[in-house]
Amino acid sequence: MVGSKSDSLFSLIPSVDKILSQPEIQDFLVIYSIPFVKSSVNTILNDLRDRIRNGSVQPHEIALNKLVDQIREQIRLTLVPGLCCLINATGVVVHTNLGRSPLSNRVAKRIVEIATSYSNLEYDLEQGKRGKRNAHLKSLMEELTGAESVLAVNNNAAGVLLALGTLAKGKEVIVSRGELIEIGGSFRIPEVMAQSGAILREVGATNRTHPHDYERAINENTALILKVHTSNYRIVGFTREISLEELVQIGKQHDLPTMMDLGSGCLVDLSAFGLSDETTVQEVISKGIDVVSFSGDKLLGGPQAGILAGKRELIDKMAINPLARALRMDKLTLAGLEATLQEYARQADPAMSIPALAMITKGIDELMSEAQEISSSLESELQDRAQIVIEQGAGRVGGGALPTSDLIGPRICIRPRDFSASRLENALRRGNPPVITIIKDDYVMIDPRTLLDNQANLISPLVGRAFEQIQGQSGMKSHED
Ligand SMILES: *Cc1c(COP(=O)(O)O)cnc(C)c1O
Repeated sequence: MVGSKSDSLFSLIPSVDKILSQPEIQDFLVIYSIPFVKSSVNTILNDLRDRIRNGSVQPHEIALNKLVDQIREQIRLTLVPGLCCLINATGVVVHTNLGRSPLSNRVAKRIVEIATSYSNLEYDLEQGKRGKRNAHLKSLMEELTGAESVLAVNNNAAGVLLALGTLAKGKEVIVSRGELIEIGGSFRIPEVMAQSGAILREVGATNRTHPHDYERAINENTALILKVHTSNYRIVGFTREISLEELVQIGKQHDLPTMMDLGSGCLVDLSAFGLSDETTVQEVISKGIDVVSFSGDKLLGGPQAGILAGKRELIDKMAINPLARALRMDKLTLAGLEATLQEYARQADPAMSIPALAMITKGIDELMSEAQEISSSLESELQDRAQIVIEQGAGRVGGGALPTSDLIGPRICIRPRDFSASRLENALRRGNPPVITIIKDDYVMIDPRTLLDNQANLISPLVGRAFEQIQGQSGMKSHED
């Protein structure tokens, strides 16, 4: 019986040709390609058939105009870009989930120029023959880091993989147990090590590893001693880790290369801003570590990239590893990274022109006046519908840098009178553009530090819209739950 009922429903479904001949669909066919529109029609019809099989369709739902509405919506949804711009109000500057470092307009402009033209990506204009894509960055990067040679790849995970696979395949790499890190997005030192074909030789204890732990682990199969920056945590209390000087000395004594996975890759000293425990790339190189790897889009403030800097002999070996071809950087990134590095060479204070650094080093007075402006604008927008206070809070550098350093600054806290903070957070997150906030206690917090140019002005109208939307949903009810 169910069968015969659904059979009769199936017979009501209009043909694809019939649907395509509808005036509104014909209008779509002027704008969109025939296969795309047909595929959208089929998606809706397949969905309808599935629902008929499940017994969840009433005959009147199969009307032609209803299907056309659904197809219009399907086309609209498919064409909404998946990737969208949003407002980061979390105060976490290098937020890995939110795209890490935003680029400056000057850097972005370079990317557009290179993207929309032919370029000498792999062409030597002097010689009139094939050149190397890595050559463009090399001298600038070498000047800035003090390294003999440099190689850039897709990201730092790729850099570590390439270094281990080149220097230690089938051989042992000594790492302290306190440094077997996991970074978000499943980058784990032991697993990257396994993928590279190198063999992990753990030494020491979680909290303490001494130079003699490394020395005792050295044998004829040792290829490399690796130190890893504990980017997103610190081991505190009764601790001991090997210093860079000790590491270099052990390497020299045993004729073994040394490497540091630095993670963030800061090129400027941030101690003037109270952020003292981030070792710069130059420091690691000058101490004599043979290879250092770091990201392009963390504290460096550039596009996603991994940079390997160090002794020419070792970097050259990595460059000719076939893996380097698979991990190579694309031309847009190359253009963006080169332009970012130029900012470091150009300015006495790169914090002025590199957005991530500018946000990290933003002065408290500037932040406070922004917070006050947003707060008073919110007060007039929301009136008595929320309590608004400014509190002293702490943002973060993020991106696995300086996990214990807070970026002290004001935050605007909004506590809705008639509904929960999580409802407001949710509505802001689903807004257009989305605003990403943090909830603390019953407050939604806005940190002005990570607001980009002109975004401060958008906060109040967007919060107002979120309130209207929530209160619209609640209808006449003045209280939720
Ligand atoms: C972030 C990080 C990585 C991964 O770098 P990506 O550029 O995200 O691939 C590797 N090692 C350390 C120590 C890190 O902090």
